[in-house]
Amino acid sequence: MNIPKSSLPRVIIIGGGFAGISLAKKLARQKAQVIMLDKHNYHTFQPLLYQVSTGGLEPDSIAYPIRKILSNYSNFFFRLAEVNEIDTENQQVISDIGNLEYDYLVLATGSVTNYFGNKEAEEHSMGMKTIPEALDLRSLILENFEQALLEDSKQRRDALMNFVIVGAGPTGVELAGALAEIKKGILPHDYPDLEVKNVQINLLQATPRVLDAMSEHASRKAEAFLTDLGVNVFVNTPVTSYDGEIVKTNSSLTFRSATVIWAAGVKGATVKGLDADDFITRMNRIKVNEYNLVKGFENIFAVGDIASMETEDFPQGHPMMAQPAIQQGRHLGDNFERLLSGKAMEPFKYNDKGSMATIGRNKAVVDFNRYKFHGMLAWFLWMFVHLFFLIGFRNRLVVFVNWVYNYIRFDKEARLIIRPYRKNRDLKI
Ligand SMILES: Cc1cc2nc3c(=O)[nH]c(=O)nc-3n(C[C@H](O)[C@H](O)[C@H](O)COP(=O)(O)OP(=O)(O)OC[C@H]3O[C@@H](n4cnc5c(N)ncnc54)[C@H](O)[C@@H]3O)c2cc1C
Repeated sequence: MNIPKSSLPRVIIIGGGFAGISLAKKLARQKAQVIMLDKHNYHTFQPLLYQVSTGGLEPDSIAYPIRKILSNYSNFFFRLAEVNEIDTENQQVISDIGNLEYDYLVLATGSVTNYFGNKEAEEHSMGMKTIPEALDLRSLILENFEQALLEDSKQRRDALMNFVIVGAGPTGVELAGALAEIKKGILPHDYPDLEVKNVQINLLQATPRVLDAMSEHASRKAEAFLTDLGVNVFVNTPVTSYDGEIVKTNSSLTFRSATVIWAAGVKGATVKGLDADDFITRMNRIKVNEYNLVKGFENIFAVGDIASMETEDFPQGHPMMAQPAIQQGRHLGDNFERLLSGKAMEPFKYNDKGSMATIGRNKAVVDFNRYKFHGMLAWFLWMFVHLFFLIGFRNRLVVFVNWVYNYIRFDKEARLIIRPYRKNRDLKI
């Protein structure tokens, strides 16, 4: 990998997401050689992926080059590499560009879409975890409308315009709201010859309420906002199968759809060598102790979505969200400073700052410890928080300008099929 030899201890961080970047920013100031490996050369701001899928933002504005984030540190090295295995015995990382030895290793690999073992659904539905996936989805949505215009068969036309979103967590809710706004504000102008009223947005949730990780107040308001926007919400409706044509649920309810978006959850992105049952707990996450140390090791840590730290307050581990990842990354950075100077590490304590989700224009829900609110104020707060956590001044500016423009013009102008997604060419409906 052409990394220079150094007398400093070598720390390899796998993953430049929220956790990896927060850690690297702290660690690169310390007496260590810091090496980050990621299969992408950019950091992805996943909370805004749904806006890329629905043409509200350009992909570049939610991504940022990892090299640029850490370009000021001479002891920091980045390599574009996919890690395939960890050889814990020889303290080596095995990747598609070669092997590298470590003194300390930090897994910050995040998570992948969880299809809960449903292979058929995995094959036929669309995930939304990366920028390429968000772009595929954007293309598919637009191609559906183009193709619907050409269809003689009403059954096929309706299937092309029938969207099914599986999972009503923040991602599903936000996506459903954005699609509903496209139906209302954009399709009648762009596709005057399409029967827009036949476009259906169906949001299916396995549990009794949408946004079930938030308060009852947030769930109730979010469902009301969605219904108001014309989204068909089905709770207590787990999806049992999707064969590329028919979505089946636990009841007699079925949907004929060319586009199923799987937003039902995520699971840890484990790496061979640290994926034995001994290390793994619920949601395929790696068990860590209060210092983020992986069970059985003194020099391997895990932070962010991949790490499950079971505490009294969070017996099933912290939520797989940006804040725990950022806080764990920063905390481990501080602990490395202690560790490298021979001091004792301090346990991690999560500071839950609350959660929020947006449904559409002027429609959002916010849960703070004491305060729960919804509507326009919540929506502005949601925008402010997302702008604040975006990396890069240019990205913040571009996103801000886009949002102001979209707000004034009721528009989402990035509705471009730049990289066609061919799924529907062999639609058998
Ligand atoms: C669509 C969507 C919307 C979301 N919305 C919100 C929200 O509104 N609020 C919120 O708090 N959270 C939200 N989340 C969750 C949040 O994005 C994650 O919790 C957070 O990204 C976790 O950070 P992380 O650093 O653990 O992992 P990630 O940010 O996922 O980073 C992992 C990194 O590791 C790299 N990687 C993985 N495996 C390998 C490998 N083998 N080799 C090399 N590199 C590898 C990946 O390329 C990636 O860069 C959302 C997630 C999604 C998908």
